[in-house]
Amino acid sequence: MYRARLFAIRHSRTFEWIYARVEGVMIALDPVFAKIGYNRMERPVALIERGVKTVLFDCKMCGQCVLSSTGMSCPMNCPKQLRNGPCGGVRPGGYCEVKPAMRCVWALAWEGSTRMKGGAKIREVLPPVDRSLEGSSSWLRVSREKAAKLRESREAARTAVAQAFPEARAIEPAVAPLAEEPASAVNRGVLKK
Ligand code: SF4
Repeated sequence: MYRARLFAIRHSRTFEWIYARVEGVMIALDPVFAKIGYNRMERPVALIERGVKTVLFDCKMCGQCVLSSTGMSCPMNCPKQLRNGPCGGVRPGGYCEVKPAMRCVWALAWEGSTRMKGGAKIREVLPPVDRSLEGSSSWLRVSREKAAKLRESREAARTAVAQAFPEARAIEPAVAPLAEEPASAVNRGVLKK
């Protein structure tokens, strides 16, 4: 497991890319998930997520995955489960004071982040762990939230267009015709000349 973890951190850029693709697919599947019911999807998706992420990242299924902000190094593997950087006990060479054979997850997170496109996210302060989400699927929750935001922004854009046209017509009717003029009407003036 530890070796797989180190591998994932060494290849954090690739995993960042894969994660972005998986998220895209999950968001695209939102209508399907909504039809089946997100509650029904929770168990099977969480099961797959647990399987994949346990092997690759030693995931503890905290339910609020932050791998994309921590260089693909899971902070739940820190014996103190610190979410915002290392404690003061990091040993020379970046080793953990509690588990001296293990490199500090935050030293690894820094290395992983330097390889990632969005690596600067490691500088953002993360919220404390919400223990009530433990065991739940981060993939499903995040994609559901992002799909909802996308729907909202699309709806807002549609509303803005719908509102803009009546306003435009009130100011200058010719700039926003209600419908395309038929060719015969457009050419009439030209024909008369
Ligand atoms: S941050 Fe949480 S969900 Fe992500 S790999 Fe670690 S334990 Fe798993």
